[in-house]
Amino acid sequence: MLERGEVANSWRRERWDSLRLLTPNWQSRLPGLRYEGPDPDGYMTMGEVTEFIERFAAVSHAPVRTGTNVESVRRTDGGYQVTTSHGEIGCRAVVVASGACNQPAVPSFAAAVPGSVEQLTPFGYRDPAKLGEGGVLVVGASATGVQLAAELQRSGRPVTLSVGEHVRMPRTYRGRDVLWWMAASGVWDQPYDEIDDLTRARRLPSPQLVGTPERRTLDLNALASMGVELVGRWAAVRDGRALFSGGLRNVFSLADLKQRRLLDTFDEWARADGQDAEVGPPERFAPTAVPPAARLQVDLASGEIRAIVWATGFRPDYGWLDVPVVDAKGQLRHEGGAVDSPGLYALGLPVLRRRKSSFIFGIEDDAREVIDHLTRHLAVRG
Ligand SMILES: Cc1cc2nc3c(=O)[nH]c(=O)nc-3n(C[C@H](O)[C@H](O)[C@H](O)COP(=O)(O)OP(=O)(O)OC[C@H]3O[C@@H](n4cnc5c(N)ncnc54)[C@H](O)[C@@H]3O)c2cc1C
Repeated sequence: MLERGEVANSWRRERWDSLRLLTPNWQSRLPGLRYEGPDPDGYMTMGEVTEFIERFAAVSHAPVRTGTNVESVRRTDGGYQVTTSHGEIGCRAVVVASGACNQPAVPSFAAAVPGSVEQLTPFGYRDPAKLGEGGVLVVGASATGVQLAAELQRSGRPVTLSVGEHVRMPRTYRGRDVLWWMAASGVWDQPYDEIDDLTRARRLPSPQLVGTPERRTLDLNALASMGVELVGRWAAVRDGRALFSGGLRNVFSLADLKQRRLLDTFDEWARADGQDAEVGPPERFAPTAVPPAARLQVDLASGEIRAIVWATGFRPDYGWLDVPVVDAKGQLRHEGGAVDSPGLYALGLPVLRRRKSSFIFGIEDDAREVIDHLTRHLAVRG
C-alpha cells in the first residue's frame, strides 16, 4: 500500500477545521473495526476520523508505506510498472484507491473574477477568521457549500449562496437519522448495474447534510432563515459581474420533489417491513421558499463581495496514471471497479458497485468483490 502522505491523509490535510462527518458514528465501520464510543448517533470530528483510520491501519496490519508518492503507472507485458518517489515496483495488478476528491473542481470563468476578490476552495479554507471582513459568495449548495455558508454567515459576514442542482435531505426523519433510513430501506445497497442512469448517479452532488450535536437540518430554508441570500446557478462573468441563472423556482421544486419521493420510498419500506410502530409518524417538509426577487447579477468590483468560496465539487487526479483508461471528463473507465485494462482495479469512487461506494462504510462490500475479481485475474494469468 503506497501513500504519498500519512495514513488518513485526506482527513488530515484537505478538510476545514469545523468539519464533522455527515455520517453518524454507528455507521463509521471498516472490516473488523466499528465505533464503540458513548455516542453512536454523533458525528466524528476530523481528529476522531483520523484516529479511527489510524486504528484500522494498526489492527488490520496494513502494509502501508507512507511518504511514498506514485509518480507513474505503466502497462508492461506481465502487469504494471509503478514508479514511486522511493523507486520502482513491478507488479501483476494494481488497485487505484487514490480517492475521488483529490482536487477542487472550479469553473473556468473563475479566471475572469476581478483580482480584488479573494478566491478559496474547500482545500484552502480553514475557518472564517482567515478571511477578511465583508461579503462572501459561496458557490454550490451541496454538503460543503451549505456547511460553509452557515459557518460564514454565523461569523457575521453577509453570505450570498449560488444554488445549482442539489439533493435536499432532512437530518432526521420520523425520529431517526436520515442515513439510518437510507441504510435500512436498502437505498445505499442498490447495486450499480440496477441503476437506470448510472452516469447521472455517479455525478450526483452530495446531500445537504451536516453532522452537528443538535442533529439539525441544514437545507436552504434553514440558511435563508439565518439571513443567507440565495441566488441561482452562477453561469458566467461579464465585465466584472457575476451572472446567475434565473431558474431558482425550478431548481427548488425539483429538489423538493426528489426529497418527497425519497421519503415515500422510506414510508413504503417501513410499511412493508412492519417498522411503522418502531418509528415516528410520517413527516412532510415545507417546500423550499423562493426568494421574492432573487438577484440575477452581482458586481464583483463594487466591494460588496470580498471573497468567493468555490464549493463546486471535487474531482480525482490521475495525472500519474500512464494507462489510457481516463475518459474526457477525467473519470476512470471501469465496470464495477474492474478498470478497462486487465489487472487494473479501482475502489472508493462514487457508485462504484453500490450507492454507498464512496462512503467509509461502503468500502467493505466493494473491496470484497473487487478483490475476488482481482484474485481470479491472477489465477487465470498463472
Ligand atoms: C469534504 C468531504 C467530506 C466527506 N464526508 C464524508 C462523511 O461524512 N462520511 C463518509 O463516509 N465519507 C465522507 N467523504 C467521502 C470520503 O472522502 C470517503 O469516505 C473516504 O475518504 C474515501 O477513502 P479513500 O481511501 O477511497 O480516498 P481518500 O480518503 O481520498 O484517500 C486516498 C489516498 O490516496 C493518496 N494518494 C492519492 N494519490 C496518490 C499518489 N499518486 N501516490 C500515493 N498516494 C496517493 C492520498 O494522499 C490519500 O491519502 C467526504 C469527502 C469529502 C471531500
